[in-house]
Amino acid sequence: MPRPISARIHPDAIRHNLAFVKRTAPHSSAWSVVKANAYGHGIERIYPAVADGDGIALLDLDEAVRVRELGWPRPILLLEGIFDARDVETADRHRLTVTVHGDEQLDWLAAARVSQPIDIQLKMNSGMNRLGFRPGDYECAWRRASETASIGAIGLMTHFANADDSAIDWQIDAFDAATKHLPGTRSLSNSAAVLWHPRAHRDWVRPGTILYGASPTGRARDIAGLPLRAAMTLESRIIGVQTLAAGETVGYGCSFVADRTMRIGVVACGYADGYPRHAPAGTPVLVDGVRTRIVGRVSMDMLTVDLTPCAAAGIGAPVELWGERIRVDEVAEPSGTIGYELMCALARRVPVRVDVPPVVQAETAAC
Ligand SMILES: *Cc1c(COP(=O)(O)O)cnc(C)c1O
Repeated sequence: MPRPISARIHPDAIRHNLAFVKRTAPHSSAWSVVKANAYGHGIERIYPAVADGDGIALLDLDEAVRVRELGWPRPILLLEGIFDARDVETADRHRLTVTVHGDEQLDWLAAARVSQPIDIQLKMNSGMNRLGFRPGDYECAWRRASETASIGAIGLMTHFANADDSAIDWQIDAFDAATKHLPGTRSLSNSAAVLWHPRAHRDWVRPGTILYGASPTGRARDIAGLPLRAAMTLESRIIGVQTLAAGETVGYGCSFVADRTMRIGVVACGYADGYPRHAPAGTPVLVDGVRTRIVGRVSMDMLTVDLTPCAAAGIGAPVELWGERIRVDEVAEPSGTIGYELMCALARRVPVRVDVPPVVQAETAAC
């Protein structure tokens, strides 16, 4: 038997979450953001769930080519654009839309011979101060792009530094002021702006983390009540049970001390599987369908849980580390991180299974 840990990917949840995005921003097209191998879920695994969408956005050229080779016919956006003059050829061959965030990228495009003009998203630095043209330089960059023969349609784009709180109006204002006289589609919203800032929806939204059912703020309570479903379940089993007497400890560092007699379950999951080592005692976990908590320090291959509320759970009892019942954010937040990081950091050694959506089974049965 393999070690009893696995991750399950639920394409249906992503399909459901994308439909929720479309209802939330009903007048916008959506770039499904699948960077970082679909936030750790695997592009090929989740592709059927976004295959009816409007566009796919990512940032690795290799990933873009993989998406094209899956047969995706619609736009693919490179969120960081090209990294080198030679990338223009790849963008041309695979009909990629490229973000342009600096003069060098305009130089590379202007110098290239292409089979057809390349569509771009011209990125404004509206306050994040990572990539993009400053508002005062933006119109000039737009003029240069519009006079470049190898450039086709020019979309106008920016990215928020603070979309997870209410303080984004200043960035929207900066964007609007600098683009007032320019034609082209607008794209501003990441997941947080999709959920909380309708003013920023515009022509194209760019949801990432909410497609996978995780909170843009890293706090589960901020998306409680929204119909977002987890796209990844990390599950394992109890492989050992200990009964501690009051005063005994469990795990490295003896950090957890039992204050009474208690049953402890040992779970086949550790930080080498992608579970955060910083998860403190009290982090929620589901054992045998019952919510309980982690106790003691997470080790490389194991972690320990309090079996007090799950009296019937013994060896082999199923454990959900995160997924449909325990939001990944509930594990991330006490560990000092965000769900994005945990999903992306799922370790290679964890076997991954994909739920077959019922609709696909029905189609298979029909032919
Ligand atoms: C990652 C990314 C997104 C998606 O962000 P989420 O917070 O996951 O929705 C949108 N736009 C750009 C430019 C990005 O890099």
